[in-house]
Amino acid sequence: MSDRDTRHQQAMQKLKSRVDEKVAEATEQRGLLLVFTGNGKGKTTAAWGTVTRALGYGYRVGVVQFIKGLWECGERERLVEDPNLEVAIMATGFTWDTQNREADTRACHEVWAEAERMLADPGVYLVVLDEITYMLKFGYLDIATVTRALAKRPAEQTVIITGRNAHRELTAMADTVTEMQEVRHAFNSGVQARRGIDY
Ligand code: ATP
Ligand code: MG
Repeated sequence: MSDRDTRHQQAMQKLKSRVDEKVAEATEQRGLLLVFTGNGKGKTTAAWGTVTRALGYGYRVGVVQFIKGLWECGERERLVEDPNLEVAIMATGFTWDTQNREADTRACHEVWAEAERMLADPGVYLVVLDEITYMLKFGYLDIATVTRALAKRPAEQTVIITGRNAHRELTAMADTVTEMQEVRHAFNSGVQARRGIDY
């Protein structure tokens, strides 16, 4: 074996023992709170990826989309065929064009009621609250209401929160926080959002 190979082997052995130690230290088993935030692309995609993962093992999953209007979404099209997936979308009938605070708040509360039901159901393994950060930012939803529901959810349930500018109380509470950072986005070079790629 060359010197370089020997050094590589030693480094790998060290790395393996460090990883093994970490694995041995992680003994707790419970549901998690994950926050995918930041202004780079990939937050909702990562959430749907995890939904697919959970459904793959036959777990029940609830997805609540706090979006205005019926945005197209390829993952939803495909995954709703799974009887273990329930999707709730904020009431339709208006878009960003109608800036009606009262109607928006009402629609938000209606879909939040669905979220609360899922967050209280021990049979639901994973709950996604997609774009909920904006509801808090716009004041449609109260942070204390959300943190209370998250805190009292079943111990085995995992929750994923997506959206830019996540409230500090949410990131403080979360087990895993990932900040997607925009390095470049095609949209800023005038390229249209692409079907099956961006939505
Ligand atoms: P995605 O749904 O692709 O995972 P996201 O959830 O991280 O994106 P959102 O802020 O929810 O990002 O974006 C909604 C839409 O805008 C998506 O179609 C997404 O591809 C696109 N998008 C995401 N990031 C950016 C960006 N930095 N500039 C422009 N468009 C973006
Ligand atoms: Mg998103």
